[in-house]
Amino acid sequence: MSALHVDLDAFEANLRVIRSRIAPADHMLVVKDDAYGHGLAPIVRRAREAGVGWFGAFDVRTGLAVRDELGPDPRVFVWLIVGEADAAAAVAAELDLGVGDAALLEDVAAAASRLGMIARVHLKADTGLHRNGIRPEDWGAVTRRAAALEASGAIAVEAVWSHLAEASDAEDDLSREVFDTAVARAQTAGLHPRLRHLAASAAGLARPDFRYDLVRIGAFAYGIRPAGGPDETALGVRPIATLTAEVIEVSADAARIDLGALDGLFSSLAGRIRVSTPAGPRLLRAIHRRSAVVDPWAGADVGQPVTIYGPAAHAPGTATDLAEAVGTIGEEVATRLSPGIPREYRAT
Ligand SMILES: *Cc1c(COP(=O)(O)O)cnc(C)c1O
Repeated sequence: MSALHVDLDAFEANLRVIRSRIAPADHMLVVKDDAYGHGLAPIVRRAREAGVGWFGAFDVRTGLAVRDELGPDPRVFVWLIVGEADAAAAVAAELDLGVGDAALLEDVAAAASRLGMIARVHLKADTGLHRNGIRPEDWGAVTRRAAALEASGAIAVEAVWSHLAEASDAEDDLSREVFDTAVARAQTAGLHPRLRHLAASAAGLARPDFRYDLVRIGAFAYGIRPAGGPDETALGVRPIATLTAEVIEVSADAARIDLGALDGLFSSLAGRIRVSTPAGPRLLRAIHRRSAVVDPWAGADVGQPVTIYGPAAHAPGTATDLAEAVGTIGEEVATRLSPGIPREYRAT
């Protein structure tokens, strides 16, 4: 049996560090992908108790789940909205809607008018990522249209926002200039957005001038450090999840551990990482679909726990260490965990 143990006290400590580092900007806790694999409901409940006022949910389904869990007070931001029905569901639940194209703006306004509500819109400027967002050449027309819709009472433009490529500081600097221009042009169009948000974990913590009013932080809140960046200690956060598996078979030269529902540990990790056994770290030799093979230890026995990753006190490596061993990022390891793996919540 494998299990993910989530330390909610460590999570709350991370939230406090983040908040003090980015103040006076506010923290939007990003909870996409089932709160980066840590389990949505317990994470948002604890964050709310700890005073988090903004949640970044990605899609409308997740936004509705956060709203259900936490009630009407916190702000819940979604930025994947597909078509009119999705827009209507988001408006009805009083979510904040990230709008990155002109057609969606119309869908959102139409839904709000039908419901007799005012949709809270965050207009997304494309600042170079070219993933989704209103291009500079369309920004003038879309912001003027948004101002008209605001005057008609269908929408309220709460924010202008964008997302960084985070490929290099120089590129991000250019994006920031494009962003500032977009904010100024929105004001010229007659909008008065109260909020600007641009940065996620990396730029948000490292670069004060990228924080604006709100910083959308996921990874660091869960103690997942940026690939190739400063380590957790330097950041002042710690990993909140420990992944364990049980020994199911012992032979003279190997111990086999059960990956059960794990279904998502990169097979390329085999031979590259050590796991923590009751007798100390041992090489993870091979990874199969439902089990993995570890170098043996004296006294190895069926039922003993082996820790695959976790904070330093529990394992030789964190999720990010595993990720870096195979050339990816910590989020990839965390979010690949199957929902079938039990999550267990505990204090430190
Ligand atoms: C995932 C995501 C974030 C959070 O990024 P982290 O690096 O995990 O902090 C912020 N903004 C958007 C638009 C995202 O998709």
